[in-house]
Amino acid sequence: MARLFNRLTIREIAKSQVVRYKHKADHWSVVRKKKTHMDKALKHFDEFYGNVYGKSWEDIRTALLMETHKYMAVVNSFSDLDRVKSEMENQGAMNLRAIYETYKEDFDAQLSESNKKKRKKELARNQETESAISDAQISAIQSHYPTDYTSPPVSLSTMNDDEDIVMESQGQQPVAMKSIESNLNEISVDENRIIHPNAGLSGLYEFVPATKIKGMEDWVLESQHYGYYKEGADFSVKIEKEIMLTFPQYLNIYTFEENNDSKFSYPKKGSTGVLDYYLLDGASVLPVLALDLQPGDAMLDMCAAPGGKTLSALQTLLPHTIVANDVSQSRVKKIHNVIDQFVADIGQWQDRLHVTGRDARYIDDKDLYNKILVDVPCTTDRHVLHSDNNNIFKPQRIRERLQIPELQAAILTNALKIISVGGTVVYSTCSLSPIQNDGVVGMALKKAWEDTNSIMVIK
Ligand code: SAM
Repeated sequence: MARLFNRLTIREIAKSQVVRYKHKADHWSVVRKKKTHMDKALKHFDEFYGNVYGKSWEDIRTALLMETHKYMAVVNSFSDLDRVKSEMENQGAMNLRAIYETYKEDFDAQLSESNKKKRKKELARNQETESAISDAQISAIQSHYPTDYTSPPVSLSTMNDDEDIVMESQGQQPVAMKSIESNLNEISVDENRIIHPNAGLSGLYEFVPATKIKGMEDWVLESQHYGYYKEGADFSVKIEKEIMLTFPQYLNIYTFEENNDSKFSYPKKGSTGVLDYYLLDGASVLPVLALDLQPGDAMLDMCAAPGGKTLSALQTLLPHTIVANDVSQSRVKKIHNVIDQFVADIGQWQDRLHVTGRDARYIDDKDLYNKILVDVPCTTDRHVLHSDNNNIFKPQRIRERLQIPELQAAILTNALKIISVGGTVVYSTCSLSPIQNDGVVGMALKKAWEDTNSIMVIK
C-alpha cells in the first residue's frame, strides 16, 4: 500500500510538474518532437546544396519553399479545342507557342544578324589579306618594270569573293568534348558525411548523404568513397549544342504572365466527355519538348505514372505509338484513370497507346522505340519540402533514398541500350542533386557504351 501510495504520489507530482513547468518552444524535447520529415529534407538540402550552389542556394531555397500552384494548362486536343483555347485567352492566359514563336523570330533575327556580322568580318579579313597579297604582287611585278613606267600593273587576284562565302552550317558546329566531372568541380567533399559502402553498388551515393544512422560500423566516410564516383565522372562524351527545339503544332499550353497570380480553375468536361485541360508545372513540359517528337515516332515513357508527360506527348498527335510504363501497379491504375479522363474515343488509339507495368531496368524491347522518356524516381526536392506523407526523407525509407542514383542509372542505361539507332533518350528528374542528374547520366553513358559500343552524344 505504501509503495502504491508512493507511486501515485510521484505520478501526481509528475503530472503537476508537467502543467507547471511546460517546456518552452525552443527546449530540446519540444524541438525534437516537432521535427518533421520535411525539416529533415530541408536540413539535408541546406548542407548539400549549400555546398553545391554556393551563394545561389539562398534564392533557390526560397523558391523551393514557396507554395506554388501548377501554372501551365495543357489544352486537351480530345476536347473542344477551339472553345477551350478562346476561354483561356479570355481569361488573359497566353499560349506558350505564341511566346515561343516570338522568341524564335527574335532568335532567328539575331542569328542572321550575327551571321551577317561574321560574313562582314570574314570579308574584311579576306580583303585585308587580298590587299596585302596584291600589294606584294604589285611591288613584285613593279620591280620588273623600269622605274619611270606609269601604267599600274594588274594584280593576279582580282576576284571578288563576296558571293563565294559559304554560310556556316549550324549543323557543323564544332563539338565540345566535356567531361562530366568538369560540371561537378565546384562540389567539395564533406569529410564528415557518411555513406553506405555496399560493395555491389556503384559510387553514386556521395550526394545522397545519410545523417545520424545507427550502426555506424556499416558506414564509411564519404571522402573515402569518393573514388568510386570518379569512375563515371571522367568519362568524356560529345556534347552538341541544341540550337532551337521545335514546338509541336498541335500542342497548346497556356500560362499567365509573370507577376499575374491568376490560377486556372479545375477543368470541366466538354462535349466529347473528357476534361478540357490538365495542369502541370512548367518544368514538366520541357522533357516532352526535348524529345523533339516527329510524325510517326514510336515513344516509350519508361516511368510514366501518373501520366502527365505521356498525356502531353499524346496531345502533340505526333507519335504513331506511345507505350506508358510504370513498375508500380497502383500507379499504373493512375495512368489508366488519366487516359479515361482525357482521351476521347479510345478505340482510335487502341493499337497505338499501350500501358504496361514492367520494371524499366529490364525492358528488353530493343530497337522498338526511337524516342524514350526516362523521367526517373528521385528525391522530388520540392515535394519533400511540402508534404510529410510518405516522404523519402523519413527514416524508414533511408535505404531506398540511398539507392535512388543506382536505380536511376540502371533505368537510364537500359534506355540507352534499347533505343533504336539515331533515336533520342531524354532523362529528367525533379531534383537539384548533381549526382542524380549529371552524375547518373555520366555513369549510364559509360555503362551503356561499355556494353554496346554505341556512339552517344549529349545534346
Ligand atoms: N513521368 C511521370 C509523369 O510525368 O507523370 C512521373 C514519374 S515519377 C517521377 C517516377 C515514376 O517511376 C513513379 O511512378 C514510380 O512508380 C516509377 N518507377 C520507379 N521505379 C521504377 C522502375 N524500376 N521501373 C519503372 N518505373 C519505375
